[in-house]
Amino acid sequence: MTHYQAIAKEYADKNMEELFNLLRIETVSAQGRGIRETSEFVSRIIQDAGGESELLDDLGGHPVVYGFFKAGEQGDASKTLLFYNHYDVQPEDPIDEWQTAPFEPTIIDDKIFARGVSDNKANFMSRIVAIQALVASEDGLPCNVKFFVEGEEEIGSPNIDLYLEKYADKFKADVCIWESGSKDSEERMVISAGVKGIAYFEASIESADIDIHSSQAAVIDNAAWRLVHALSTIRDVNHNITIEGFKEMRIEPTEQEIENVANFPYNKAATIKTYGLKHPLITEQLPYTAEEALILYPTMTISGLLSGYTGQGTKTVLPRKAMAKIDVRLVPGYEPETVYEVMRAHLDKQGFQDVHLELLTGVKPFRTDISDDFVADVINSAKEVYGDDQVILELNSAGTGPMFGFGQYLDVPILGAGTSWVKSGAHAPNENIRIADYYQGVEHIMVLLKTFAS
Ligand SMILES: [Zn+2]
Repeated sequence: MTHYQAIAKEYADKNMEELFNLLRIETVSAQGRGIRETSEFVSRIIQDAGGESELLDDLGGHPVVYGFFKAGEQGDASKTLLFYNHYDVQPEDPIDEWQTAPFEPTIIDDKIFARGVSDNKANFMSRIVAIQALVASEDGLPCNVKFFVEGEEEIGSPNIDLYLEKYADKFKADVCIWESGSKDSEERMVISAGVKGIAYFEASIESADIDIHSSQAAVIDNAAWRLVHALSTIRDVNHNITIEGFKEMRIEPTEQEIENVANFPYNKAATIKTYGLKHPLITEQLPYTAEEALILYPTMTISGLLSGYTGQGTKTVLPRKAMAKIDVRLVPGYEPETVYEVMRAHLDKQGFQDVHLELLTGVKPFRTDISDDFVADVINSAKEVYGDDQVILELNSAGTGPMFGFGQYLDVPILGAGTSWVKSGAHAPNENIRIADYYQGVEHIMVLLKTFAS
């Protein structure tokens, strides 16, 4: 608890209706709903809070909202903190599983239910509220603040790097706070310093012009076997990724990173119980721990397999087509294109030139150098608000997001903090945040801005 606690709550309550109005707009980027309206609404919120704002849309895609707040009289205008947020949300489906109307924010048991409240509209609003509260306080705004609020995060941010590259000067900042953050199952605030990247592939093979009677299996191979054999060469039965040159791409973590991971709390038994796992964790057979696997190593996953007859009863056939979806989560050292190159070369070398491999989508990984001073600022300010033993630094989240371009074009350390909790249900029905977490989120941003500027 800090001396900002009361004012954070006061300004959060004062602006609650504004947050609700933002939540009422159906900003479903996948369906192009409410985009222009929301971008204008967000821009107006920034202006009403005393900032400058502009919509950038000259490079295609949904508009990017730029925001700027100048440091107050007693503040340090040589320092700038950038917030990254997004104003778009996931589709509300399945609607019949919602207990409230998804776009009518509803308070039940001290929680706000609405699509987009956790991901990411309340986080955006908590930052605006923190700025307003600081401006109204005797301290004033302690540093410059900028906003980059995009409308395509939920569809993979296809245009974000274009805007970051062209407008690198406009968004220039010393540090960046990412869109979100969440408390874990033990009520600890998890501050994330990065994201894993992803490379998503489709592997397919065609072995004949038509499906063939399976009596011909005596002399003819089929697509299903070919693909299964090809896949079996990329990961062995002990879960080691066996693609030549793949392991070597990984950048060795620093001592500090290894130490951070060793101390990262992870409950194996809870994972096994939660999912009702029928097998031990794969790290039982790997030369590194579960914690290291989650944070420091890439994955190699068959996400889907399709071939031949899978209906009721029997059908004897040689399938002529087979297809697999493969997802690879990336850590520093791996990029989607280079992963494609080593996979392609590996398949060719193993004699599987006939397996067609396509990179469907890719996002590069990003990890902030945790020896940066800003990491200590974010952690220490969080400890003041959440408690000394209630804050965890995670090197990179297991998930993926468009951080890489911010590192590339703006060269800033990036850390995530926010107002969600373990049952916020982002992307799911009944998405919610707890109002108490929202107040704390505002308070944390206030303390953080003050800490960063001093
Ligand atoms: Zn999302």
